[in-house]
Amino acid sequence: MTAARPDHNSPWVLDIRPLGRRPGSLKAMTIDLPVDDPIGNEVLAVPAGHEVELDIRLESVTEGVLVSGTAYAEATGECARCLTPVSEPVESNLRELFAYPGSATDETTETDELPRVVDDLIDLLPLVRDELTLALPLVPLCSPDCAGLCPECGERFAELEPGHSHEILDPRWAALAEKFGSTSSADAASSPESAGNSQQETPKEK
Ligand SMILES: [Zn+2]
Ligand SMILES: [Zn+2]
Repeated sequence: MTAARPDHNSPWVLDIRPLGRRPGSLKAMTIDLPVDDPIGNEVLAVPAGHEVELDIRLESVTEGVLVSGTAYAEATGECARCLTPVSEPVESNLRELFAYPGSATDETTETDELPRVVDDLIDLLPLVRDELTLALPLVPLCSPDCAGLCPECGERFAELEPGHSHEILDPRWAALAEKFGSTSSADAASSPESAGNSQQETPKEK
């Protein structure tokens, strides 16, 4: 299988020649790499312009170059309940073999299963992108007990008075209730009187 040649100009592409091909040869490095396209999903992502810190070890093995270590970044997004901007540290362990062309691994796996060493270059971006995306929380929250938004007024419960509710009626309903209330009390006051009159008058007529 032939894999696409990594972009030599990308900072995510490493030249593995200094490592050498002697199995057991090691190279450790801590590097900050720039994010050009956001890493993550719609609710939470490491935004473009941020950096990913990689603390990694390259190890030459018979089949290729084993990359292991950690990726660390700061993801930003919105609280899933109250939409407050949130910032979440995200960390992921990395462990991936980049297979040498012509190795047994190269012969027996597809390039979408395992990445390849191409022209002595390895591209760390697909690996780091996949792993960081998997490490992101599915439901980002501003705090674990975020109460969300009031369904009536859309304000954050965290910023409202304790016991906040909407018992005050809509002005139109309030006006109607007032009218209804005064009418029924007037009836209550007048009906015994009129009932009494009719009762008194009825016997006289008979
Ligand atoms: Zn929240
Ligand atoms: Zn409210």
